[in-house]
Amino acid sequence: MLEDKNKKATSLAELGEFGLIDHLTKYFKVGQETTKKGIGDDCAVISDANETLITTDLLVEGVHFDLSYVPLKHLGYKAVMVNLSDVYAMNAEATQITVSLAVSNRFPLEALEELYTGIQLACDTYKVDLIGGDTTSSTKGILISITALGSAKKEDIVYRDGAKPNDLIVVTGDIGGAYLGLQVLEREKEVFKVNPQSQPDLEAYSYLVERQLKPEARKDVVKLLKDLDIKPTSMIDISDGLSSEIMHICTQSKVGCNIYEDKLPLDPQVISTCEEFEIDSTMVALSGGEDYELLFTISMDDFDKLKGNPNFTVIGHITEENVGKNLITRANQQIKLKAQGWNSFE
Ligand code: ADP
Ligand code: MG
Repeated sequence: MLEDKNKKATSLAELGEFGLIDHLTKYFKVGQETTKKGIGDDCAVISDANETLITTDLLVEGVHFDLSYVPLKHLGYKAVMVNLSDVYAMNAEATQITVSLAVSNRFPLEALEELYTGIQLACDTYKVDLIGGDTTSSTKGILISITALGSAKKEDIVYRDGAKPNDLIVVTGDIGGAYLGLQVLEREKEVFKVNPQSQPDLEAYSYLVERQLKPEARKDVVKLLKDLDIKPTSMIDISDGLSSEIMHICTQSKVGCNIYEDKLPLDPQVISTCEEFEIDSTMVALSGGEDYELLFTISMDDFDKLKGNPNFTVIGHITEENVGKNLITRANQQIKLKAQGWNSFE
């Protein structure tokens, strides 16, 4: 978790802007057929017969990440994942990214090398091309803005507004882990402040910390759905928490929903850590963000195609709009969902 004080530190001023860009990007190779021109000219050039999808995220030090426990390599990887996840949530293929940076002179070249190692690992693993960006200085801290481009056939794109009453609500993987990972890291940071000699033992929380620091966007799910011949009626990625995302789908589709508490997919480490931290695991599953799983709805006719598949959990169904957005508890009580968890006082 600590920076190695013995590491070489080369000041960014030594390279200059062009030297820096060249140094950071020289090992990136483009592989997408649609990339006609990558880094090096005034613009990148793309040529695609399909629809083009575009999404951007801006990450600010101290607001979106804390470098006291987020290694820069992980930050680079995650910054790419956050964007790819949005592309996959449209049922599209991610193809290219641009990376823009504002960085203060507190960061040596070696820090940016770490960041780009993470970005390159993400690009290689997910087969997306780095095709450009911008580099400038900041008075304080580091800002990273990534734009991702995607490609899909017009008829394959899935929006948030297509859910219909009786559709099944499906979530991939498990949820709540990334939020708990953050709680664990925050706790260790406080311990470290009091006793800098302490070495954190994160063994019992390895899955949670990994979910927080190194999330994986669900490219595999887009392929899996294609192989199963399922086109979701609506889809969204889980960045802000399940509750908030299901509400986006319901609002845009003008429908309601019933989500079943006992169906929420939780990893055993989520359950045990919730017990230790004395927090409600349902609350964590509904409101904890950053899992980057996919939430989608399917027609009931498609249920047999994904039944029993370990990647998917059916957690409820879509209703008429006037039914509202509800959580059905283990005790069979109906509670109104809120963007942040639910209102237990209703
Ligand atoms: P311009 O002055 O035309 O904006 P730059 O000198 O900023 O060009 O960038 C030169 C090339 O390097 C461009 O292709 C640009 O997209 C790319 N580039 C600049 N900064 C980055 C970065 N941080 N990551 C990746 N590519 C970058
Ligand atoms: Mg520029």
